[in-house]
Amino acid sequence: MRPRRKAAVVDVGGVKVGGDHPIVVQSMTNTDTADAPSTVNQAMALARAGSELVRVTVNTEQAAAAVPRIVDALDGFGVRVPIIGDFHYNGHLLLKKYPECARALAKYRINPGNSDIGRNTGDNFRTMIEVAIANGKPVRIGVNWGSLDAAVLTRMMDENSRLPEPKDAHAVTLDAMVASAVESAKAAERHGLNHDKIILSAKVSGVQDLIAVYRALAAVCDYPLHLGLTEAGLGGKGIVATTAALAPLLQEGIGDTIRASLTPPPGGDRTEEVVVSRQILQSLGIRNFTPQVTACPGCGRTTSSFFQEMADQIQTYLRERMPRWKSSHPGVEAMTVAVMGCVVNGPGESKHSNIGISLPGTFEEPKAPVFVDGRLMTTLKGDGIVAEFIGILDDYVDTRYRKV
Ligand code: SF4
Repeated sequence: MRPRRKAAVVDVGGVKVGGDHPIVVQSMTNTDTADAPSTVNQAMALARAGSELVRVTVNTEQAAAAVPRIVDALDGFGVRVPIIGDFHYNGHLLLKKYPECARALAKYRINPGNSDIGRNTGDNFRTMIEVAIANGKPVRIGVNWGSLDAAVLTRMMDENSRLPEPKDAHAVTLDAMVASAVESAKAAERHGLNHDKIILSAKVSGVQDLIAVYRALAAVCDYPLHLGLTEAGLGGKGIVATTAALAPLLQEGIGDTIRASLTPPPGGDRTEEVVVSRQILQSLGIRNFTPQVTACPGCGRTTSSFFQEMADQIQTYLRERMPRWKSSHPGVEAMTVAVMGCVVNGPGESKHSNIGISLPGTFEEPKAPVFVDGRLMTTLKGDGIVAEFIGILDDYVDTRYRKV
């Protein structure tokens, strides 16, 4: 892994983004922001799942009016997650008309493609920047290729057409995304916003395009970068595409905050996007959030679903314990637990983990050796294997990680 790109540090409501600060996980609600109770509930769920910043859309007067109530209610519940406002088209009007909304938000996301920068007077863009300055707030200049600044694109297409060897339109579009982000940030600075109040993003929906755009962006500026594959999609496709896009960039030291833009199924759990973002960072060895269960995929040597059920029970148990362990047992988030299906790789993998169990496969004697810190500790048998293993796990966590 390459060293992290040195970005400026931006304070977003007390959460530091950039520099050597941990890469921040963020998410976005999909409730109607004007429906404050629903938005508060979802923001709380996202925060409790581990989202360190939560963005809400601020698209109407009702939404802008609800923002201070949402922030107050979260505070009342003891949830101190910074709330970011997502503005398009009318942000200049809403931020001016609802000063309490402007004060309550920790950051404004501004999309230059649907503000008036580069067209007309640019007054709307400048108004949002001036409100940010007046309230001491940072902004994210968030370019999206679905709403790319038409003025920048047209200008760059024209310039390209005059080149002896013009690039294709797709390549120029990606260049225009980088230019739109950087030029908008420079315009914000000309309007008086400090350099360390700006985060950039330039999201596209194609994996290779995203990697190319962010490499280019990282090379030309030191603003912190928010990574995300826009419109990643549903289920496995969205998770895989997001991971495929973000992992190479993070590996190259690019990215200061991330979001997995997954489409949940109807009625699905919005917090999955937080779980995925955290898992990407933990799988890459960048941050630790929760103990990891190493489980083999199972094969013809595992004859029942017992092994899968046990792996699932242990993973669930660890996730449920983490909120308490986080403060009482610091460091436990880096622990690894192996739950393996048979003798082929079971003992070996278990020895590589902090604690591991190798269940009996087909035709094996019905006993399960447990390894702790690489050494055989005991062998479990019978119906109580899961409960006994959890008991051993609890003892291990308490002995090894309990805060003194
Ligand atoms: S450890 Fe055993 S059960 Fe698991 S995949 Fe390998 S051979 Fe199959």
